[in-house]
Amino acid sequence: METITLNNGMKMPILGYGVYLVDPAVTERCVLDAISVGYRSLDTAQYYENEAMVASAVRKSGVPRDEFFITSKLCQTHPSYAQAKENVKGSLRRMKLDYLDLMLIHWPMGNDSDIWQAFEDLVKEGYLRAIGVSNFYPETYEALVKNASVIPVLNQIETHVFYQQRPMVALMGKYGTAVESWGPLAEGMNGIFTHPVLTEVGAAHGKTAAQVALRFLIQQNIIVIPKSVHKERMIQNMDVFDFSLSDDEMAAVRALDTGHNLDGWPADALKYDPAQW
Ligand code: NAD
Repeated sequence: METITLNNGMKMPILGYGVYLVDPAVTERCVLDAISVGYRSLDTAQYYENEAMVASAVRKSGVPRDEFFITSKLCQTHPSYAQAKENVKGSLRRMKLDYLDLMLIHWPMGNDSDIWQAFEDLVKEGYLRAIGVSNFYPETYEALVKNASVIPVLNQIETHVFYQQRPMVALMGKYGTAVESWGPLAEGMNGIFTHPVLTEVGAAHGKTAAQVALRFLIQQNIIVIPKSVHKERMIQNMDVFDFSLSDDEMAAVRALDTGHNLDGWPADALKYDPAQW
C-alpha cells in the first residue's frame, strides 16, 4: 500500500476504509472483510457509534496492532480542556486500545483551542500518535493554528470529483497539513458510478468510474477512505495503484468540479459556527 508521510514524520496509508453509517451490527464483519483484503487504515468516529466494533475486528483479525493506522474523531460541543482529555480516553476505553494513531476534532466544536491543547498533551502522554481536524475551513483552521504548538497532520474534508476544493487544498499545502477526502465517491451521488467522463477514462485503463474517481484524488496526494459494505467493492476500491491518469485525463476529470458540496453549498458557506447551535 502506498503511504503518505505526515508532517510529524509518521507514514499513513493513502487509502483506507471508512465506516460512516455502517450499522454497528455489521461493522465488525465489514471491517474484518476489509482487513482480509488488505486495508490497514480504518476511519471511525464517536459520532458513528461503531468505534468498539472497529477495534474488536482489529483484535479478531490476528494482524498485529502496530500494522494498523486507526483514526477516530472527537464529538463534544464546547468541552473544557479536562473534558476533552476525558472524552478521548472514553474512545480508548470503548475500543480497548492503549493508543489511537490519529484523533481528529470532527468539526469545529467551540473551545477548539482547549481541545487542541488536550490533544497535544495526549500525544506527549502516549495516548495519541497524531492529531488533526475535520471540516475546518480557512477561518476556523487559521484560528486554531494561531495558538497551536502542533500543526494538524491532516484536515479531513468533503472532496471528490464534483467538489475539488482547490483553494482549501492549496491552503493546507501552505501549512503542511495533508488533505484527507471524506466522501471520495461523492457518497454515490450525481450518478458518479456511471458518469460518462469517468467511465470513458476508466475504459482506457480497464477500470471502473469509481476507480478513476479515487485515482484522481490519490494522484494529488489526497488521502481517501472509501466505504462499502460489499467485499468485492472493497477489493475494487483498493485496486487503484497499477495505473495512472495522464495529464489530459486529469484535466478531463478536473472539469467535473461544480464548486459546490453535495448539499449545494459553496466552500465559503461552511463555517460550522457552534455559537449558533
Ligand atoms: P463514499 O464517497 O465513500 O461513498 C460510499 C457509497 O458508495 C456507498 O453507498 C457505497 O455503497 C458506494 N460504493 C463504494 N464503493 C463502490 C464501488 N466500487 N462501486 C459502486 N458503489 C460503491 O461516502 P462516505 O462513506 O460518506 O465517505 C467515506 C468515509 O469518509 C466515511 O465512511 C467516513 O469514514 C468518512 N466521512 C467523514 C465525514 C466527516 O465529517 N469527517 C463525513 C462523511 C464521511
